[in-house]
Amino acid sequence: MALCIPLIFGFPTKIHQDAPEPGRACPHCHNASVVGASSRTWFEFFWIPLIPFPKHRIWKCGICQWEMRMGDGPDPQAPGAFAQQGFGGVRPPPPQGYGH
Ligand SMILES: [Zn+2]
Repeated sequence: MALCIPLIFGFPTKIHQDAPEPGRACPHCHNASVVGASSRTWFEFFWIPLIPFPKHRIWKCGICQWEMRMGDGPDPQAPGAFAQQGFGGVRPPPPQGYGH
């Protein structure tokens, strides 16, 4: 016995940009185009969104599509911060040696 009805479902992610604010510097393409947004994945069945998954907040670059969940790493800096600190001055310290 064969089931010939295709089950069409998916998990699309819908992204809503937050209130407009000045873009932050993208760590990937270095354009000031990173904005805060809300991302939510839905369980969709036959193109009907049925079950929402918990919403989380992300940073998203409008140019290179880079995105990062807020809290997974340092927040993108406002472009002005780079001018004050200078490029290359914000590297994290190297990890301490693992006991040679
Ligand atoms: Zn970018």
